[in-house]
Order: sequence, then C-alpha cells, then structure tokens
Amino acid sequence: MRAVVFEKFGETPVVRTVPDPVPSPDGVVIKVAATGLCRSDWHGWMGHDPDIRLPHVPGHELAGIVVAAGRQVHNWKAGARVTVPFVAACGHCFECASGNHQVCEHQFQPGFSAWGSYAEYVAIDHADTNLVAIPEEMDFATAASLGCRFVTSFRAVVDQGRVTPGEWVAVHGCGGVGLSAIMIANAMGANVVAIDLTNEKLELAKKLGAVATINAAETPNVVKAVKQITNGGAHMSMDALGHPTTSYNSISNLRRRGRHVQVGLMLGDHAKAAVPMAKVIAHELEIRGSHGMQAFRYGAMMEMIKTGKLRPDLLIGKTYSLDEAPAALMAMGSFEGTGIGVVTRF
Ligand SMILES: [Zn+2]
Ligand SMILES: [Zn+2]
Repeated sequence: MRAVVFEKFGETPVVRTVPDPVPSPDGVVIKVAATGLCRSDWHGWMGHDPDIRLPHVPGHELAGIVVAAGRQVHNWKAGARVTVPFVAACGHCFECASGNHQVCEHQFQPGFSAWGSYAEYVAIDHADTNLVAIPEEMDFATAASLGCRFVTSFRAVVDQGRVTPGEWVAVHGCGGVGLSAIMIANAMGANVVAIDLTNEKLELAKKLGAVATINAAETPNVVKAVKQITNGGAHMSMDALGHPTTSYNSISNLRRRGRHVQVGLMLGDHAKAAVPMAKVIAHELEIRGSHGMQAFRYGAMMEMIKTGKLRPDLLIGKTYSLDEAPAALMAMGSFEGTGIGVVTRF
C-alpha cells in the first residue's frame, strides 16, 4: 500500500510503498476513505509523543470500510462503513470496565502507538470495543472529522463541562476543537463567547452559534472582557488551543465555582503551564481534562448530527490527496487554518 512515512522526527515525510497491514486476532484492517489532518500529527512528527517508534505512519482521524477481520472479532465484517475514536481502548482494564475507555490503561492509538491512517489501509486492534458504524447518510470526510476534535469537544462540553441551558461558556481558540465546542455548546442551549486572534475565525464562530466574540490580538485584557460579557464570569470555560496563555485566561475568566476544561494538548515546553491555584481554591473552581470519547458514547452525538442539531460537515475545510499530505502536515506547526483539513484521495 501507499503511505506517508517519516524515518526521523522533523524530517520531511515521504509517500512510499510499504507492506499491507494484517489484522490482529481481535482487530480489523480498514480501507481508508478519509483521514483528518490534525495538529497532534504535527506534534507526533516533531517527536513530542514518546509512544512513536520509527519509521512511522501518522493519522488518527479516520473513516473507511472494513476489508479484513481477525478470528476473534464478532461484531464486524468486511464491507462495514466505520470510524473509530482516536483513543482505541483495550476493553479489559479497570478504566474500560468502569466505562472510561477514553483513558484506557493499555490504549491503542493509530498514528501514535501504531501506524496510522495517512495510508491506503490501517489496522485497528480491539475492533469490537472501538469501531463505530457510520450512519448511511454521513459521508466519509464528515465521519473522519469526528474521531478526534469533535468527539473530544462533545465530551468536553457535555460530559466533562456539564453545560446546561442558559449558562455562559467561553471557548478560547477557534480551530477545529474550538469551533466544534461552540457548535455543541450552542446546541446544548448555552451562551457562547468565542475568543481567537483572527477575525476570520471569529466570524465563523458567530455563524456556528457564538453570541459574542473577542479578538485577543486587539483586546488588552481578555479575562476582563469575558467577565464583562458574561456578567461576572463564565460558568464553563475551555482552552481549545493548548497554550499557557489561553489555559490561564480560561481558568481566570470563570465565575465562582466555574468549570475549566482543558482540551488543547499541552506538549513540549507547554506541559507544565501555570495555573492560578489560589483562585482555584478561593472560588472552588473545577479543572478537568477531556481526552477523546468512548465509542459507546457516539450514539447520542450521532443522533444530534442525524437530526441536524450538530453539523460537523460545516467544519470541514480543504480536502487533500495523500501526496499533498506531507506538506500539509509540516505546515501545521503554525496555527491551524480555518476548518478541518481531510485527505480524501489516496
Ligand atoms: Zn486529531
Ligand atoms: Zn482498557
């Protein structure tokens, strides 16, 4: 098969022929029909992820058709249209047994702990625990765009952020994660304030349901601005970018007993970002992470997509061919473009 391969961290990846994958006993091989481009892939390529063994094939936001299944797989066979959350769980550890597959102790992450989906085929382990059927009416590019940023945002807003109608929600950073969160929080009945450095992304944020926007490049004190708009602070606030400044602002702009959810990854130099801990204590603030979403939780989200309450298709930006993927991957070190890039031609 053809795949995007890098031999060394930070060196230009190349498209070349590599052996076709075979399914593990409880796994499947999927013919990739669409795979999303994500900043996590850039982090992986830069060497920020200790799980990656070289040479490596990136790619974790995938959708496609099952072409082969291992002998222990009961629920899936060739021909099934499927996607998978970026954290594929083992199905057997304590966390899995308690329903928290998103933090599985032995997680399988395509594109990180194993070769990923910037390729014609990808192998996925523990298929019965992790595969999700794609509804008939959903195209592959939309399905691929769900597995990382959209599901993480859904969990961040609904399960971790516990947003209720009428609450104020601040979303710092309007890339793929932030725009997904804005759409989801709006669908949940919250009032969303979107914060970003570019007016182009803030315009899109408004179209997706933000009731107020703040351009952080033009606003001297973002925390004060959020507090003014929200009459004293957000009930829930999210760092959707993954940066010490946006994280600090997101915690600082909460009202008393507010809830911060960290969704943007904090890797490399940012791994130990500052936290206003005195305020966390005095105001009983809550700080939670959000790390993907269990395959079994997709049902609620899929129903909201089917009924048109959520429109992940609106977040898809440019589509690419596999040959264009290396350049697109390397360009992601700078801030994401508007919308989610998806490879759809292999
Ligand atoms: Zn991703
Ligand atoms: Zn597990």
